[in-house]
Amino acid sequence: MKTRRAIYPGSFDPVTFGHIDVIKRAANFVDEVIVAVAENENKKPLFTSDERTHMLMESLKDHPGVRVESFDCLLVDYAQERKVNVILRGLRAISDFEFEFQMALMNRRLKPNLETVFLTPSEDVTFLSSRLVKEVARLGGDVRQFVPEIAVQALAKKFAEK
Ligand code: ADP
Repeated sequence: MKTRRAIYPGSFDPVTFGHIDVIKRAANFVDEVIVAVAENENKKPLFTSDERTHMLMESLKDHPGVRVESFDCLLVDYAQERKVNVILRGLRAISDFEFEFQMALMNRRLKPNLETVFLTPSEDVTFLSSRLVKEVARLGGDVRQFVPEIAVQALAKKFAEK
């Protein structure tokens, strides 16, 4: 039988319960989910790629079938290198659609055999984004219901340093 693997790429700056919801759903129907942290230095992330990867690894250590890696190249090249032809993305709302649709079609042009699969998150996480969580944390709000404990601590530390 084929081993079905899929790549779930993103910035994960930091991981939220929205990302984790998508990863758990995916792990129910593929053998291995590769959570791929895009280094994305041009996006000026709050956390380094190592910090983002570490937070994901800690948050997902009890989930079999999930591995966390980081990459710093074109996603389609990374997928080819890892011999994976399914890209997973989460769609929160119509507002995500345009960008995700463009990206999926761009990736298909670049690698026609690559399929992008969109997952629908649980409705109680659809409002969550790393950007908003950072904003709440920066202003001293409680983010424990939005991100795993390791990210709560990391956000507190990061904003205490600033
Ligand atoms: P990017 O910087 O590539 O947008 P993110 O880390 O913000 O990466 O998100 C990675 C993927 O996870 C994207 O497909 C995004 O739409 C999805 N995602 C982010 N937050 C949520 C959420 N709350 N529910 C479902 N999907 C989400």
